[in-house]
Amino acid sequence: MAKRAVARPSGARRALVTGASAGIGLAFAERLAREHYDLILVARNAERLAALAQGLRQRHGIAAEPLSADLTDSSELRVVEQVIAGDQQLELLVNNAGFGTVGPFVRLDPDREEAEVKLNVLALTRLTRAALPGMVARHRGAIINVSSLAALQPTPFNATYAATKAFVNSFTEALHEELRGTGVQVQALCPGFTRTEFQERAGIDTSHVPSFVWMTPDAVVAASLAALQRGSLICIPGLGNQVLAAAANAAPRSLVRRLAGMIIKP
Ligand code: NAP
Repeated sequence: MAKRAVARPSGARRALVTGASAGIGLAFAERLAREHYDLILVARNAERLAALAQGLRQRHGIAAEPLSADLTDSSELRVVEQVIAGDQQLELLVNNAGFGTVGPFVRLDPDREEAEVKLNVLALTRLTRAALPGMVARHRGAIINVSSLAALQPTPFNATYAATKAFVNSFTEALHEELRGTGVQVQALCPGFTRTEFQERAGIDTSHVPSFVWMTPDAVVAASLAALQRGSLICIPGLGNQVLAAAANAAPRSLVRRLAGMIIKP
């Protein structure tokens, strides 16, 4: 059951970050706290969220509220939607929670594939839908949808994951056009290999991935927020990732998807 702790409202602008207990979401939380956002922190791990919220409150003097929820559970997702829809000070929603599955699709656990679509696609869509009416009415606000370089091409052995992220890019690009003139901004953030718990949770062997392609979560978040300032719709953090993305766009799709599969499962 989604659990909400009592917050101390400080009257500042507020951001809600999903997947705030680790990795890129944790880096968003730290950075936004430094920028004096009040925060609502969403993930499943209540202990991690509570410790994070307490640390952020102490170090930055902000209001930080842990909201533990499994976003693949429809009733828990509904609680987070209600929190978002009822928040008149929400300026930023970071739809970051996500995970990937790796292996031949024919052998992957169908329930896990379903959960992947529920988290990466369905939760992101519903939370965006919950946030937008208030943001549009207030003529201000932004939504960062965390996608991936995997969005740019189909990826064998990571098929569902890449497809969910292609959804995120397409969805976010379409909303960008719909929201023109409303004062509300959307961004699809497409990181490449980033040092988080993601690869371990997915069971991806990264021993062959050269160290220079890796980014830190802090660097990914810095690139995302700088791109938001510039009003960029698609943010590909890091020069190496930008080169990879340009090559993926230029090369024949049949070649790119085969190479993508070799990177995930050499
Ligand atoms: P991570 O370190 O594994 O963090 C994932 C976060 O999502 C955790 O806070 C986790 O917290 C939360 N989460 C997972 N399942 C959830 C659920 N059912 N309900 C609510 N929260 C859930 O991974 P990360 O790298 O930071 O990933 C963040 C985003 O970046 C994802 O969308 C991922 O696809 C994207 N991305 C990552 C990389 C990379 O190389 N790391 C590259 C491209 C894109 P709990 O376990 O506490 O719920």
